[in-house]
Amino acid sequence: MTPEEFRAHGHELVEWMATYMEHVRDYPVKSQVQPKTIYDQIGEKLPLDSTSMADIIADFKTMILPGITHWQHPNFHAYFPANTSGPSILAEMLTATLGVQGMKWDTSPASTELEEKMMEWLGGAIGIPATWSGVIHDSASTATLAALISAREQKSEYGINTKGYEHQIYRVYCSDQTHSSIEKGCKIAGIGKNNVVKTPTNDDLTISVKELEKKIQEDLDKGFTPLCIVAALGTTGTVAMDSIASLGQISKAYGIWLHVDAAYAGSVLLLPEYQHHMQGIELADSFVFNPHKWLFTNFDCTAYYVKDADHLVRTFAILPEYLKSVTDGKVHNHSDWGIPLGRRFRSLKLWFVLRYYGLEGLQKKIREHIELASWFETQIIESESFELVLPRSLNVVCFRYNPSHLSEEVLDQKNAQLVQHLNDSGKIYITHTKVKNRYTIRIVIGQTNVTQEDVAFAWEQIRKTTSKL
Ligand SMILES: *Cc1c(COP(=O)(O)O)cnc(C)c1O
Repeated sequence: MTPEEFRAHGHELVEWMATYMEHVRDYPVKSQVQPKTIYDQIGEKLPLDSTSMADIIADFKTMILPGITHWQHPNFHAYFPANTSGPSILAEMLTATLGVQGMKWDTSPASTELEEKMMEWLGGAIGIPATWSGVIHDSASTATLAALISAREQKSEYGINTKGYEHQIYRVYCSDQTHSSIEKGCKIAGIGKNNVVKTPTNDDLTISVKELEKKIQEDLDKGFTPLCIVAALGTTGTVAMDSIASLGQISKAYGIWLHVDAAYAGSVLLLPEYQHHMQGIELADSFVFNPHKWLFTNFDCTAYYVKDADHLVRTFAILPEYLKSVTDGKVHNHSDWGIPLGRRFRSLKLWFVLRYYGLEGLQKKIREHIELASWFETQIIESESFELVLPRSLNVVCFRYNPSHLSEEVLDQKNAQLVQHLNDSGKIYITHTKVKNRYTIRIVIGQTNVTQEDVAFAWEQIRKTTSKL
């Protein structure tokens, strides 16, 4: 493609992108296609001849778009958001244009140094101690895996990296509400999923510290080695916030690594009124937070912080001859800070977003989302046929339809039907969780451009749809 052709198609696509953003509300939030619809439309074989960009772009619109779930639709209230923003998209275009592979400082000094500085900016703003170091990963799952492996290497004095496992049985503790990435990480790291100790929770679904300590003592009696505690700062189901300070005391008393999973809720730490959740952070060893969820930075961008970068580098560094350079030892080579060798230039979009909004702009948006969720919570409380399942946490409300005189089983069915009808309508998209084994609807209000009207619309759709049950 010549620069002239690129310019023409680039302008055309940027025009399309801006129009998409203006009219995203016109699309069904959740893709309405049946399985295989997209697959069956795409040609059988890789084409021999060149296809014109005009045809490729036309096919994108007719074949691909119907199979898209519109995560940037303001009525996307499912899972957690993966929101984006103008500055993030523009930076991502530059990243793709430069096509930098930032594995080492030498392979693009700006990629490494901007990443270092962005981690300092963000860490400073959310209350990470100034002596810690940060690095960007592709996902919280990868960062948690890196934490588990670092903990394992520190505990085994770097023995498992060298000799492999011998007879150790390591144990990893978390609440029964924590994210599946902890179990997955333990499988991959060779710790074994049977050695993930899922600790019971309190009524508010935070980890029971008393139960945790009991489990650690039982394990010590059996000759197991307690390795890591994972604190959930915002569980995926209901955004329950474990106490870092209490878990930190246990981790210090028993010499156990403390990893904090704030993948979703990390954004709220930008607000001084939520900073109390960081109490005791100095007792932790690592911390993960996804700007790619609720901080207007498109997927992927995970901020991973460690108290002591030395453990990380000793765990992951590898230096074959072809990667040696004269700057080694003077600069950071981020491929030594995690699993993959190759690394995308992700800090550029974070730099664009953080500067475009500024700290106050980010705080304003996050506060607005929390206020919208608070309004929604009030509607539920005041409604006669709905009830809160738990008090709201941040911008997530857990509720259910509960007209009188229905058994728990029937309520589970009716609420599942309600979610199905709403999602099939294409008007809003919500998902569910189980709280104390009961079907619970979960609404998340964190889309970049969500407004009061959007939330009022969602509430109206939810109420109206109960007539179909
Ligand atoms: C989303 C989430 C994860 C996983 O994040 P990825 O970046 O998709 O791997 C882990 N923990 C919590 C609490 C989450 O909300």
